[in-house]
This record gives sequence, structure tokens and C-alpha cells, in this order.
Amino acid sequence: MKILDIDSTHCLIGGRWQAPLSGELLPLFNPSDGTELCQIARGSADDIEAAVSAADAALAGEWRRTTAAERGRILTRLGQLVLEHTDELAQLEAQDVGKPLTQARADAVALARYMEFYGGAADKLHGQTIPYLDGYTVYTLREPHGVTGHIVPWNYPMQIIGRSVGAALATGNACVLKPAEEACLTALAFAELAVRAGLPAGALNVVPGLGAEAGAALSHHPCVHHISFTGSVAVGKLIQKAAAENVVPVTLELGGKSPQLVFDDADLDAALPFLVNAGIQNAGQTCSASSRILVHESRYDEVVTAMSAKYRNLKAGPALRDLNVGPLVSQRQKEIVEGFIAAGHDLEIAAQGEIVADAPSTGAYVAPTLFAKVSPDHSLAQDEIFGPVQVIIPFRDEDEAVAIANGTAFGLVASCWTKDGARQMRLARKLRAGQVFLNNYGAGGGVELPFGGTGLSGHGREKGFEALYGFTTLKTVAALHG
Ligand code: NAD
Repeated sequence: MKILDIDSTHCLIGGRWQAPLSGELLPLFNPSDGTELCQIARGSADDIEAAVSAADAALAGEWRRTTAAERGRILTRLGQLVLEHTDELAQLEAQDVGKPLTQARADAVALARYMEFYGGAADKLHGQTIPYLDGYTVYTLREPHGVTGHIVPWNYPMQIIGRSVGAALATGNACVLKPAEEACLTALAFAELAVRAGLPAGALNVVPGLGAEAGAALSHHPCVHHISFTGSVAVGKLIQKAAAENVVPVTLELGGKSPQLVFDDADLDAALPFLVNAGIQNAGQTCSASSRILVHESRYDEVVTAMSAKYRNLKAGPALRDLNVGPLVSQRQKEIVEGFIAAGHDLEIAAQGEIVADAPSTGAYVAPTLFAKVSPDHSLAQDEIFGPVQVIIPFRDEDEAVAIANGTAFGLVASCWTKDGARQMRLARKLRAGQVFLNNYGAGGGVELPFGGTGLSGHGREKGFEALYGFTTLKTVAALHG
């Protein structure tokens, strides 16, 4: 299959599109109907070796000499090219991930926005001078780590590439990107647009392949100086161990079980779209999905009734039909989510959406499902489901709400719906999360807003200006001149 005008079976290494060294390929499936979409490279340790060497060469050559202002210009041009190709990128992402077209378009626009943001920021990051002893001049330099590894999942390929590769390139690192085996077409398209934007050869290399092969080779490679990983907790732990062996920094973004807290004084009309959309967006396959809705007992029945009404109108179907919910990314993911729903057999299903009648039976569809009266310690309220499933949990008072909200192993995002300003401030401090939203959820995507978690949600921050610190290392220079 041609992606823009490149071959979907190729890797980008040192500025050249080439077949994987082993010649081996993997099938890529369209989750809307289960058909094979195309074939992609099954990158191996040898391809990763070549990609890391190409990144090293870029750091010793043209990319090292590229000024911060020029890096910014390249990223800005790349953002413009992404915008010009929004429709193609959205079509690719919709077919590859199963994401409804409107959501895929929004991701393409977010990718462009990351390039604009980090393009603009590239020449704004600088060190400091530090007053010191008599006769000294002391200053700090912010330098790139060197070769950065980016291991990306299938749920938001464009957004996650944007936030990590964008910040890494802005700060002068040379990247090796390993997209997910389930969805890598927009990674290839993005890389081709980067070539067209004038990114020097080797500054961005892309090697698709299996996690246990290409991914493991990248995370263990001794010449990779920083690893950015988004995905499951289990693999995140492997990545952190590999990084420990090489003593390199790692950013882990591993998902969550993010709550929205609805208090007795909440504006329910304002909250309702956020309560539901934050759970079903991308079929719930979102690290920051809000899968737990905590409601004060005085508003509990009202919230269950209102959310149930919305759920009954939700439609799941093929990505290109652009309904509320697409298929899950794969049959495997569908089985995992169905397992969770089955685990709730003794609970009350408040409402379910509909899988449209003409959705292919070979697609990976799960009807959006809302559970009511779920105990906070039930697996549905504790584990990351990664599907269109939400639970509603009642609470008696603020202390109990905070205890339930903080009572999982995760800590990524939380939101409170209350008009009480003092309570907003208290909860912003008490909630265990990397982002807290007050009377909103997600803040419209927030390319500019630092993002990341605590606990099993991971560590390190991406997005916003903060990411630029994560992708650089600080050097202190002390000159004794008398
Ligand atoms: P995963 O962690 O297996 O895959 C994510 C990325 O890591 C992919 O590129 C994969 O190829 C790579 N990878 C896998 N094994 C690797 C290894 N041993 N070494 C290096 N890289 C490796 O995630 P998954 O299997 O696609 O999904 C499983 C679960 O992970 C989901 O059900 C969900 O709960 C969670 N998940 C979370 C996010 C998130 O945004 N936080 C994204 C995707 C998946």
C-alpha cells in the first residue's frame, strides 16, 4: 500500500526509505471489518542498529549544526504540511486504529499543533547565569540527550508522536521511533512529511515492528540516551528495567483510572457531555479516559438517569461512518474488554449503546456500557479497561470522594464538578493526579499543558514547555578567570 507516495513496508533510516533488513513483513488489519489493510515492516534488532547509527551520524553531522531557530523553522513547516494533509492522515488513522473520522481529524490537527508549538519553542529554551565566587563566571547549558527512543502505542499514534518526537527534535535530539504493530501508518506518513519539510537525514528514523523484537532492541540499545514510552504497565516496567541497565532517563506514560467527581452543587448540564465523552472517546482506549464517575449521593440517581439517556443514544460502527464510537483496535482488545464486562455480571448495567445493525460481524465492536452502583474495590473500578465502559460510584462527603478518587494504583487525571471555589482549591491539591481539571475535563486537548502521571500511571512529563526540560540535560560551566 502507498502511504503518500511511500511503501507501507518500508522503514525510514538515515533519510532513506528501505525494506527491513530481514525482508520480513507483518499484516496490518482494519478493525472496522477485520480485513488486511496492508503489510508493514517487521523491523528487527538489525534495523534498530542501523537506525541508531543513522541517528548518531546525524548528531555528528548536519543535525548537530542546525541552529535552534532552524530546527524551529523545520518543525513549523512540518506542522503546515501536516495541516495540508489532514484528510489523508485522518483517513489512514481511521482505517488503522478504527477511530471515527472526526476524532482522527482532531488528532491530525493536534499533531500539526504540536509541531507549531515545539517549532515556536525551539529557540526559547536557554540556560542561566549563576552568581558565584569572586573571579568566576558560571552558566548552564541545556543540551540534547543525544539519541532518543520513542516507543508509541496504537491508540493515539499521531498525538503521541507529536508530543514526544516534537519536543525531542525541537531540542536537537535525533529520534528513533518504534510505532505500534497494530497501527503505524500515520507514523510513516508523518516521517515522509518530515523529510519533505527538510529535516536532515537521520534526525528522525522510523522502524515499525513487534514490541518484543524492534521495541526491546531499541529500549536495550546502549547508544540510546533517553526513552519515551507510552503503553501498558507491564511493558513500562520492562522499559524501565532496560533503561536501568544502561542508566538512561525514561519517561513512562502508562494509563490510568481517572475519576470525575460530581458534587451536590455541580452544574450537571455543563458536566454531562464531559462525563460521557471522556469515557467513550476513541472507544475508551485513551490513557486519560475518565472511566470512574464519582457522584454525591444527593445527585446520584439524577446522574445515573442523565448518563443512561446519553448512553442509549450512542452508536458504535465502522470508523468511516463517523459515529460516536468505532471498533476497538483489535479482536484481542475486544476480548479483553468483553472479559471486564463479563466480570460485572452481578452488577447493574445502567445503560448500553448500540452496535449499528450493518456493522461487519468481523469488526471489533463493543457496545458502550455504563455500570451503576459499583463498589470502589471492584475490578471494574480499579483496573484500566481500555474500552467504552464507565462505572458510577456514589460518595457521602468530600473526604470519602477523595479517598475513592485516590484509591487506585493510578494517578493520571482527575476532575471536579463543583461551584464551591474553596473546595476546588482543596481538591486540586488533594487529588493524586498529574492533571486536575476544575469544571471541565481534558481542557480541549491541551498541547500546551504538561501531562503525565504518578503511581502506575508512570513518571516524567510530556506536552507543554515542560517536555523540553525532559528532553534535555543540564550542563554547568564554571570559569575561573580572576
Ligand atoms: P503495549 O504496552 O504492549 O504496547 C505499546 C508499545 O510498546 C507498542 O509499540 C509495542 O510494540 C511496544 N512493546 C511491546 N512490548 C515491548 C517490549 N517488550 N519492549 C519494548 N517495546 C514493547 O500495549 P498493548 O499490548 O498494545 O496494550 C495493552 C494494554 O496497554 C491496553 O489494554 C491498555 O491498558 C494499555 N495501553 C495503554 C496506553 C496508554 O496510552 N497509556 C496505550 C496503549 C495501551
